[in-house]
Amino acid sequence: MADPDVSTQSGGYDVELFVDPPDYDLICTICQGVLKCPVRSACHHIFCKKCILQWLKRQETCPCCRKPVNPNLIFVMFKLSKSIGRMKIKCKNEIRGCAETFPLSEQYCHSMSCLYELIPCPYQGCRAQLLRRDLDTHARHCEHWRQPCHMGCGTILTQHTQAQHNCYKQLRQEYESRERNHRTIAIALQRKMRRMQSTMAHMKRQIRLICESLEVMDDLHEVVEEEDLGESSGSSGGTPSSSSNN
Ligand SMILES: [Zn+2]
Ligand SMILES: [Zn+2]
Ligand SMILES: [Zn+2]
Ligand SMILES: [Zn+2]
Ligand SMILES: [Zn+2]
Repeated sequence: MADPDVSTQSGGYDVELFVDPPDYDLICTICQGVLKCPVRSACHHIFCKKCILQWLKRQETCPCCRKPVNPNLIFVMFKLSKSIGRMKIKCKNEIRGCAETFPLSEQYCHSMSCLYELIPCPYQGCRAQLLRRDLDTHARHCEHWRQPCHMGCGTILTQHTQAQHNCYKQLRQEYESRERNHRTIAIALQRKMRRMQSTMAHMKRQIRLICESLEVMDDLHEVVEEEDLGESSGSSGGTPSSSSNN
């Protein structure tokens, strides 16, 4: 398989990149790749723009029919360029494990997110090249890893200082959340106390009422007893006499 980067330098797209083998008339005669930015000469032959311009620097005849070619009379074929852009290709990182396929026009887009793209470590001073998917694992050990504290305190952390970083912002946040927690508990307790107080007041009222009614009953008893005593002494001789009348 030809290196895709080399074929890009020489003009067209690597034929191997395409999911289905491209039509013969989409192949540039100069680079043998699939036409990239296709242009048509006056003799109706089609080449990659880059290929024919480079060719015309050395000779002024068409590589297909040997007719003279005027560099000012070549025309870009936009429609053909667009339909080539819609052709399905494989990822250039297929060899590293990427199995995705997509239209040629989305190649750049895909390479910006392809997990199998070889990229340099983003931390200054690190020379490592790694697959995008291994970046997180690498960052955990990279000696050049630098990042501002995620709490926003402004400290730049390194692999060594990260574990020891005693962030005042974090402490304050923890303190504030604890304080909020305690406040909610205090409010709940206060509410409970108020409920208990009102229950107690209610019970006190009930007890007072009961006591009051007991006192009234005692008074009544005393009155009744006094009346009983008075009645029994006054009518002791009268009752038998009235019953004897019947
Ligand atoms: Zn070409
Ligand atoms: Zn020609
Ligand atoms: Zn990919
Ligand atoms: Zn690194
Ligand atoms: Zn911090």
